[in-house]
Parts: sequence; structure tokens; C-alpha cells
Amino acid sequence: MIELSNLEFHYPGSDFKLAIEQLSIARGQKVAVIGPSGSGKTTLLNLIAGILEPNSGDVKVGDRHIVSLSDKEKRDYRIKDIGFVFQDFRLISYLNGLDNILLPFKINNSIKVNGETEDWIKLMCDEMAIKSKLSKFPNQLSHGEKQRLAICRALVAKPSIILADEPTGNLDPANKTNIMQLLFSYASKNDSTLITVTHDYDMLKGFDTVIDFNDLTSKKA
Ligand code: ADP
Ligand code: MG
Repeated sequence: MIELSNLEFHYPGSDFKLAIEQLSIARGQKVAVIGPSGSGKTTLLNLIAGILEPNSGDVKVGDRHIVSLSDKEKRDYRIKDIGFVFQDFRLISYLNGLDNILLPFKINNSIKVNGETEDWIKLMCDEMAIKSKLSKFPNQLSHGEKQRLAICRALVAKPSIILADEPTGNLDPANKTNIMQLLFSYASKNDSTLITVTHDYDMLKGFDTVIDFNDLTSKKA
């Protein structure tokens, strides 16, 4: 369960303010987040991931209050529990595809690669048809291939929460469907919570819940 309560957040020096009185997302739910550009969707994902800290209020995930975790506990939470698909992918240009997927293991030694990880990577790369791209560097890959690589990286450590920021942005319809099916099937098989920001009203079908930012927040300048 993810529970936000009396949450307030603003960026220093900006008049944008995010205020969410109450939001609960049950374990295993597939949630789409929609809303206008600039309404705070990416900010919300960053608050859930503990990348940003609220000015007040609580972010509770399971029995943990994310705000009160130490820096190390927060890093471990992000690496073990969260799979983040960033809108701009954040692939590392000097690492090949496989090393990009393995990045979570390189930046945090609280998780370790084992035989199971290798099987899981093979399976994901098969399903996403990027096996032949693992030795390639990001600048040698198409937009869709980068997107799929970023998704493999987000899922590599088998997170219980997937935060996907417009994962189907700028993709053709076939690739969009493919990617959403992959995320849905991962979430179902692993009882993982999936929170997907999307602009794409065609993609809303498979979700359990749609959260519309226009209903969720109140903004004050
Ligand atoms: P969305 O993802 O819904 O498009 P964001 O969460 O990215 O919206 O941004 C919400 C608002 O906060 C926007 O007005 C944006 O300009 C502002 N914002 C985002 N990141 C920062 C930042 N690092 N510093 C200051 N303002 C920011
Ligand atoms: Mg955004």
C-alpha cells in the first residue's frame, strides 16, 4: 500500500505547489496518472520514490514512512523496491545495453547479480526483442529500443513498485501496446504496483484506476 496524506511540495524559488490531501494505492494496483503538462505528475513519482522530499505531510509505503528514512535507507528503498522508468530514459552513454540494464547493481551493492538475474535479463530481452542490442551503445539505438532498455533496467531488480513516466511517449502504436503489455504482465505476475503517467488516452484500458490530476490536487501560487 502506498499512502500519501496531507502532502505539500514546492520547488525552491518556483511558484508551483503540489498539494495532495489523501491518496491510497493498494499493492498490485495498476494505476494511470493523467493530467495537463506541468501539473506535477513527474513530481508525484519523484515524491513516491523518495527522490524529492515533501515540505510537509507523509509518504507511507507498506509500513515505512519514506520521509523519515536515512539517506542510506532511502537509497536501498529506491534500488530494491522501486523500478523507475524515466521520461528521458537516463541511459548512460558510455555503457552498452547490457551494462545499462545492470546499472542498479553497480550503483548499490545491497543487491547482487545471480543466476536468477541472468535468466530474468534473458527473458526480458527476448520478450522485448532487444537481445541483439545488448552490445550496442545508446547512440546506436532507436528511440523505441532505448525505451525498452530503460524498462528492462527498471525491472531488473524485480521491484514491487514500478513508476513509469510516460513510457509510451513518442512510440508507434505497435510498440506502445507491446510496452504496456509487458509492464502489465510483469506487475500481474509479481504482484507489483504499477503507476504510469500517460498523456495517451488510448492506453487507459488495462489499468485498474485512473487518477486525474485535475481532481487530485489543489494548486496555489
Ligand atoms: P508534469 O510531469 O505534470 O508535466 P512536473 O512535475 O514535471 O509536471 O512539473 C510541475 C511544475 O514544477 C512545472 O511547473 C515545472 O515547471 C515545475 N518544476 C519541475 N521541476 C522543477 C525544478 N527542478 N525546479 C523548479 N521547478 C520545477
Ligand atoms: Mg512529466
